[in-house]
Amino acid sequence: MTARLLLLEDDPAIARTVAYALERDGLAVTHSLLVDDARRQIRASHFDLLVLDVGLPDGSGLDLLRELRHAERTSTVPVLMLSAHGEEIDRVLGLELGADDYLAKPFSPRELAARVKALLRRAGARPVAGAAPPAAHIFKDDEHGQRISLRGQPLALTRREYRLLAHLLRGAGRIHSREALLAAAWGDDSDSTDRTVDTHIKTLRAKLREVDAATEYISTHRGMGYCLDVP
Ligand code: CA
Repeated sequence: MTARLLLLEDDPAIARTVAYALERDGLAVTHSLLVDDARRQIRASHFDLLVLDVGLPDGSGLDLLRELRHAERTSTVPVLMLSAHGEEIDRVLGLELGADDYLAKPFSPRELAARVKALLRRAGARPVAGAAPPAAHIFKDDEHGQRISLRGQPLALTRREYRLLAHLLRGAGRIHSREALLAAAWGDDSDSTDRTVDTHIKTLRAKLREVDAATEYISTHRGMGYCLDVP
């Protein structure tokens, strides 16, 4: 699996250089020129890391960062802020708002790529060629075919179940709220409820048990949500 990264940067020359350096390192880069577009992209899909410029034509990367930190689904996604040279205030504010790292312009693309990889390692994501997530020995997620197999056996999952399990897998070992799971598997435009998540988790558990009856992979955390535990 490839780590996915969103780059919010309005300077096309910088964006090109950065995207090139990161893609060469095996990351999949989605580029946004505007805060609004980045917000939409983040809502619509999962990113392992975000690189946010501060000054954008339609707003500030710092405001977006603040929003992301307040939303449960994105509260812990690693964020690296970029900003114009010497804007000390941005640096302080960025770190206070929960950015994980900060780079002042001008920077070298190599430096950025190195910091990105360090953040991904810290987050326990699977970057960069070769590094498999711990769960990969037991679960295999074929993102293109939208199929997951457990201990070598393909699971017969519905589309929702696939998205639910894929999300749990990506954040294995972390507790995911029903709200976050709902957003991941159903998107924004649905009138599904927490109960819907519970029902799908139940059928998902049954399907996992058909392959491996000895292990309870998904645990319930009362009042908090669900967690995929990989032994
Ligand atoms: Ca800018």
